Amino acid sequence: MVKEIVKDEEILSQPCQKATIDDMPIVQDLIDTAQSMEDVAALAANQIGETKCIAIYLDDQDEFKTIFNPKLVKALYPAKMVEECFSVDGETKVTRFECATIAYEEPVDGKLVSRKREFHGRESQILQHVIDHCKGKVI
Ligand SMILES: [Zn+2]
Repeated sequence: MVKEIVKDEEILSQPCQKATIDDMPIVQDLIDTAQSMEDVAALAANQIGETKCIAIYLDDQDEFKTIFNPKLVKALYPAKMVEECFSVDGETKVTRFECATIAYEEPVDGKLVSRKREFHGRESQILQHVIDHCKGKVI
């Protein structure tokens, strides 16, 4: 279902709860909402009002990927970047890492599977943005 994008700081600043496989309906809402908008690189669950550690992002193959409970494990090469967020007006300067190792869970056949991967460039930046959302931090 397409949801409205949350701009309410009180919701966005709450640290999100650990997500489980029972939260899968949120994923569909995130995808529906992202597909109803233009130029969406990523969307976190709390941006549609669900304070769970879930996000979707557009990978380098232009496909939406789902991540549950992402955590930054290792980060290298900090760089100043300019970012936008659908929940915030205007652009913000942030420091992101060009290279990030992220641990997360991915839904596979009705179960959450743990993964750990190194991301670079655009994907790395997007995922750090999303991890901040999960922590209740907005750029
Ligand atoms: Zn954002």
